Amino acid sequence: MNEASSGAPRPTAYRDAMCGAVPEEWVGREIRLSGWAHRRRDLGAVVFIELRDRSGIMQLAFNPDWTPADVLDAAAGLKAEDVITVEGTLAERPADAVNPDVPTGRLELRVTAMRRLSESDTLPILVAAPPDDELPDEELRLRYRYLDLRRPEFMRNFEVRHRAIAAARSSLSADGFLEIETPLLTRPTPEGARDYVVPSRVHEGEFYALPQSPQLYKQILMVSGFDRYFQIARCLRDEDLRADRQPEFTQVDAEMSFVDENDVFDVCERMLAAMWWEGIGADVSVPFPRLTHSEAMERFGTDKPDLRIAWELVDLTDSLRGIGFTIFEKVTAEGGRIRGFVVPGGGTISRSRLEALNGLAQKQGAAGMLWVKRGAEGWSGGPARFLKGAAGDQLARERGINEGDLLVLVAGADAETSPALDVLRRTIATEVEAVDETANGWLWVTDFPLFEADAVTGAATASHHPFTMPSTASATELLEDPFSVRARAYDVVYNGWEICSGSIRCHDPALQEAILQVLGFSREETRDRFGFLLEAFRYGVPPHGGFAVGVDRAVTLMVGAASLREVIAFPKTTAARGLMEDAPTQLGESELDAFGLRRRSS
Ligand code: ASP
Repeated sequence: MNEASSGAPRPTAYRDAMCGAVPEEWVGREIRLSGWAHRRRDLGAVVFIELRDRSGIMQLAFNPDWTPADVLDAAAGLKAEDVITVEGTLAERPADAVNPDVPTGRLELRVTAMRRLSESDTLPILVAAPPDDELPDEELRLRYRYLDLRRPEFMRNFEVRHRAIAAARSSLSADGFLEIETPLLTRPTPEGARDYVVPSRVHEGEFYALPQSPQLYKQILMVSGFDRYFQIARCLRDEDLRADRQPEFTQVDAEMSFVDENDVFDVCERMLAAMWWEGIGADVSVPFPRLTHSEAMERFGTDKPDLRIAWELVDLTDSLRGIGFTIFEKVTAEGGRIRGFVVPGGGTISRSRLEALNGLAQKQGAAGMLWVKRGAEGWSGGPARFLKGAAGDQLARERGINEGDLLVLVAGADAETSPALDVLRRTIATEVEAVDETANGWLWVTDFPLFEADAVTGAATASHHPFTMPSTASATELLEDPFSVRARAYDVVYNGWEICSGSIRCHDPALQEAILQVLGFSREETRDRFGFLLEAFRYGVPPHGGFAVGVDRAVTLMVGAASLREVIAFPKTTAARGLMEDAPTQLGESELDAFGLRRRSS
């Protein structure tokens, strides 16, 4: 790892080194340290206080043998989280006091002078809680975020985050990319979410939109000839928040000219490998395997497959169609399929658990989950009766279902069964520990459909965004059968999470017009929303493409955090509130007035 990217600070007016990084060679020297009073232990006349800063801990030893009486008195009055500066002699701890778990666990500072730089009030949440203490309620922690952030886990998370971003910067810089900022006050962007808007005071009644991504600007930078752009970009999307979403998030956003997919993948893979290496010392092997969207859906039921799970979905429609089981007859008669997967050794999963998994499948929109187990006495489970004899033997042979195995089945239309099969595969694999934690499931998913049908209206929406190049060459084809057209869009999936997406962009005016037509944009709307981009394209646009990596998600995965909130310094709650600063807030009448806004009278 490149330690220089988060290297040790030089000595300052207040300290010779950071607490957790005092070198052992300094034993015997007089040194000065500063930080927060962490834990304390009082052994009568002798007091130990841990001095903490970002780097770690140094044990301070106050002892009448070397500490003057007034300093002992001051130490007695110190409270948790007071900020102090101390001087003393660096010494080795007595052998029985060595703590092998901390880098400075063999050292202590024998304090001869101390000054309190600031005092802490009584803490609303403990910083130095006992190791097994449960964390306080998250709302309270978010309210006092600055105290929560003092915990060492956070220090590590943000160090990893910093190193990963620094690695992305240097990897892209080495590949000839220029870091260029794009505006925050802009027009609506076409990422498909709702915009945050900012009223203009100068232009009463008009609004800026905050960017959902720098998409349009980065494409225009390609028209300008910058050739390779990147930005550590803040993106804002006003969505109804689901469990682990944030209204603002960070992307490593990049765009490049005169490229096809292979060129983009190469740059992106090396950048991700650098981020993981610098971030956590993980060796990521490139190139990543590639799967088309259809293959991913067929083999895993999702476009974000977790490749650490070896089980794949199989289509059993032909094997099970004729066995006489009513559900199968009905589903196949309606054109549905019977798909499933084998859980080796899954025979031990209890009936009640399988019943609960059936509920889980239904929650995902499937009619239900069926199962059969193969035991010493033959098959058991819902359709078991129909598997006696040749049909069952053939199934076992063809699908490698051995004694003790479980076969999970979901029947119906793919749109209903795929989500269920995906969730069942991941849930059962986690429960029976079939996720290979030592593996790294990196892959590209490519060839997404260009359009998706809106679940409610059936209208076409862009599956990536409207500026993605279709795989088809002709606008006529695209207009005739839009839902069959594939996009030159791609995602990077890591262990079942989408952490990057991008596309080769459409730089052909006829195709672009056809796409916008399918999406239902009138000429006026097109001109109004994206006119500046399309106009720019009239003056010589190079073929171009790019990607954006979700930094928050990437770092969450690197450090194994439970939530994005653990790698974002000041996150919002799932209800999009900032609890520490108390945002959003109401504006007073006069402020509203300045924007020409009036509160709706209720
Ligand atoms: N703008 C896209 C996004 O935010 C990424 C890209 O296509 O480069 O997902």
